[in-house]
Amino acid sequence: MALIVQKYGGTSVADPRRIENVAKKVIATRDQGHQVVVVVSAMSGETNRLLALAREISPRANPREVDVILATGEQVTIGLLAIALEAQGCPARSYTGGQVRILTDSAYNKARIMEIDAARLHRDLADGSVIVVAGFQGVDEHGNITTLGRGGSDTTGVALAAALKADECQIYTDVDGVYTTDPRVVTRARRLDRVTYEEMLELASLGAKVLQIRSVEFASKYNVPLRVLSSFEDGPGTLITAEDENMEQA
Ligand code: ASP
Ligand code: MG
Repeated sequence: MALIVQKYGGTSVADPRRIENVAKKVIATRDQGHQVVVVVSAMSGETNRLLALAREISPRANPREVDVILATGEQVTIGLLAIALEAQGCPARSYTGGQVRILTDSAYNKARIMEIDAARLHRDLADGSVIVVAGFQGVDEHGNITTLGRGGSDTTGVALAAALKADECQIYTDVDGVYTTDPRVVTRARRLDRVTYEEMLELASLGAKVLQIRSVEFASKYNVPLRVLSSFEDGPGTLITAEDENMEQA
């Protein structure tokens, strides 16, 4: 039995049918005997829509209030996914970042995770539930809602995997792995089976948007094996780990 953190991005939860598809994938993992913690983004376009609402009222909106607004996007998807899981017969519990107590600093819009209380999550997992956690958000020491910067759900996934000592953090997205170049632009791009954290950081700094850079730094620091996979087709994806002997031989 492994403990697996699965993160699903905005396009993977873009509508109720896709959320049901995510539930199916989560249940398939659980049926293999694994414990699963799921992290979700807001439905695609939702964070931009919320941001536009705030800016329509004031282009200089207080960052604290912007985070209060932005955090609602992920709160909707955790509830919807928990409902979809239970509708398919799988016990599930959703938590916002604050409810888990993903403690961050107070840098609104770009907060950094300081500490995660894993005790309650371990209790729920032991009961057999799937845990569904809102990505991209936390709470500061005063209880203020914070967000982690755009693309921050990746970092939530990796941070939870590190805190729970998970066996793997799987990032489900709309491409089936990490490519030599953007597969949506260059048709002859090649999927990579394995890359190191360093190589992934380099790709990200060259503009690969498949993972938030901070999530890769986090994974490297805590040695969390990361795998990028497609939500829409089966396949091994790309495994991102520290360099090892096998890799050098390959
Ligand atoms: N919903 C947030 C964003 O659009 C966080 C994420 O998706 O990772 O940036
Ligand atoms: Mg993303």
